[in-house]
Amino acid sequence: MTDIIQLLPDAIANQIAAGEVVQRPASALKELLENAVDAGATQIQVVVKDAGKQLIQVIDNGKGMSATDARMSFERHATSKIRTSQDLFAIRTFGFRGEALASIAAVAQVELKTRPNDAELGTLIQIEGSEVKKQEPVAVPVGTSVAMRNLFFNVPARRNFLKSNPVEMRHIVDEFQRVALSYPDVAFTLFQQDMEVFSLTSGKLSQRIVGLFGKSYQGQLVPCEEETPHVNVKGYIGKPENAKKTRGEQFFFVNNRFIKSTYLHHAVNSAFEGLIASDQHPFYVLFLEIDPAQIDINVHPTKTEIKFEDERTVYAVIRSAVKQALGAHHVMPSLDFSL
Ligand code: ADP
Ligand code: MG
Repeated sequence: MTDIIQLLPDAIANQIAAGEVVQRPASALKELLENAVDAGATQIQVVVKDAGKQLIQVIDNGKGMSATDARMSFERHATSKIRTSQDLFAIRTFGFRGEALASIAAVAQVELKTRPNDAELGTLIQIEGSEVKKQEPVAVPVGTSVAMRNLFFNVPARRNFLKSNPVEMRHIVDEFQRVALSYPDVAFTLFQQDMEVFSLTSGKLSQRIVGLFGKSYQGQLVPCEEETPHVNVKGYIGKPENAKKTRGEQFFFVNNRFIKSTYLHHAVNSAFEGLIASDQHPFYVLFLEIDPAQIDINVHPTKTEIKFEDERTVYAVIRSAVKQALGAHHVMPSLDFSL
């Protein structure tokens, strides 16, 4: 029998991998924002057209890339963030898989402009469907701009699966809010169809919350803090009277990475027991600091689920931190023996 197994061409391998990383415009935005933060940017601008279906552009003033790195950044498994398998257990950056840009460039038309501060000229790269169309020097400010146009232009089936503009825009705003919350000292703007949706100056977390969710949050935030040998908790909870029927304004971050956890959500909800109706959800933005060796963030490519070594301790610490915050601010009787 003749041999029939072949390695997939890069463009096809990238397109398959893209299915894991880029489900919709918002997932591309998440990756681009995380890259900007990882590059040490202090100002990040986002421009969105047609709910991201036509354009998502992220412009940062971070460290930029050399011409060679700019080209390398689109290769799959190409990353500056980890080198050894040991590094996997001490990840402090958002990225590490080296898959995002390769995936995005496989299923969209991408224009990258970038310049590090030790170069006089920057680099422009245009790439579509993994194919480099142009690479040339260009005069640009220090930092990086990535414009992603016509997502899934070459995968009609997936383009047709995109939801209506309001739904896709909601996902975009969700991702934007998560990154903006975890970096209040970075200034962010979001423009949609040339209209300014958010303009967030660098400041404290409480100001960032008000900037994102509105003035009605002013004076409604209760600081929440607890330090234990295992995990530190820090952030804000909303007063019980501000609890809402809709879920969505609940945020957990673990080592500054947004995560979803129904289990930990329950820890907060249970601390609010008796203060809010059972069908309501309190507002919270809580940051957990934990030894990276105690967690595994490598469970899913988009990395919103993580595994804790000791989930029950984390649960208990969060519950007690929220109870104490509520008690200390006289939101509930401060003598609470159930702590
Ligand atoms: P990862 O973030 O997992 O390393 P990406 O595909 O997102 O993989 O990016 C590949 C590499 O390109 C990064 O490791 C980084 O060195 C570089 N890079 C990407 N975006 C930027 C940016 N905005 N500024 C500077 N460097 C960047
Ligand atoms: Mg990345």
